[in-house]
Amino acid sequence: MLKSLNENTITIMGSGTSTGVPLVGCKCSVCTSLDHRDQRLRTSLFIETKKGQRIIVDTGPDLRTQLLKNKISAIDFAIITHEHADHLHGIDDLRPFSFGPPVKEIPVFTNAPTKAFIEERYPYIFKTASRPSIGGGVPLLNIQSVEMEKTTVINGEEFFFFSYPHGYGVTMGFIHDTFAYVVDCLELPDHLVKILNEKKLKLLIIDCLQRNPHQTHLTVEKSFNYIKEIKPERAGLIHMSHDLSHRGLSDLAEAQFGKNVFPLYDQLKLTYEGT
Ligand SMILES: [Zn+2]
Ligand SMILES: [Zn+2]
Repeated sequence: MLKSLNENTITIMGSGTSTGVPLVGCKCSVCTSLDHRDQRLRTSLFIETKKGQRIIVDTGPDLRTQLLKNKISAIDFAIITHEHADHLHGIDDLRPFSFGPPVKEIPVFTNAPTKAFIEERYPYIFKTASRPSIGGGVPLLNIQSVEMEKTTVINGEEFFFFSYPHGYGVTMGFIHDTFAYVVDCLELPDHLVKILNEKKLKLLIIDCLQRNPHQTHLTVEKSFNYIKEIKPERAGLIHMSHDLSHRGLSDLAEAQFGKNVFPLYDQLKLTYEGT
């Protein structure tokens, strides 16, 4: 298939919740399923934009495996949505992208509270002035905070970043061209639902953890309700636990929306148009 010049491509590097699926030690029907779409690494995206920018969204503990599986050999920058381990603890595996030659710094964008948190948690990466690294080296990362609910231009690409509640903290979502990403979400404030609806999105990727209520994530019902309010052309469900089989969730989505709402799975590629 020829790629149109105005198209961005997303590779789903991981579609699972914080434990991944299968859950270690679990014998449930999803964890033992033979359907490859039920095997979910921790949630992460790789975006190749229409202008050729290569972006990693979240650096979870499966990052190295995901980079190898998807044959990703270079990136231009990373976005980190929040500081939870399943979205962050592979940050060290950004190292090879700075090795070069030439040696280069990788920009990492997040919101201000997450930047502060990450700098505290990884002093060996971000606080090297008092103790320069020796031996194997550290990732050369230039972490920067972005403003919420304003247009931010990164390497010629326009983003609209926004924050919403997720447990004790917030997660940073974004809109890029005709795509919006809402991962790890307890609820979306009304004004953001309105903004997302007005964008007339071609693609929304949204949190969809499990069927039963949860204190920090969207359930299937809540996720479907937001899709009905936001009305994207297509919606992909992500961050599923072993409560949801690919087939079962596909059926639930299809019954309400037809084929335009579907669970995502690892290594799936999707495209969305530029504006
Ligand atoms: Zn998560
Ligand atoms: Zn299980």
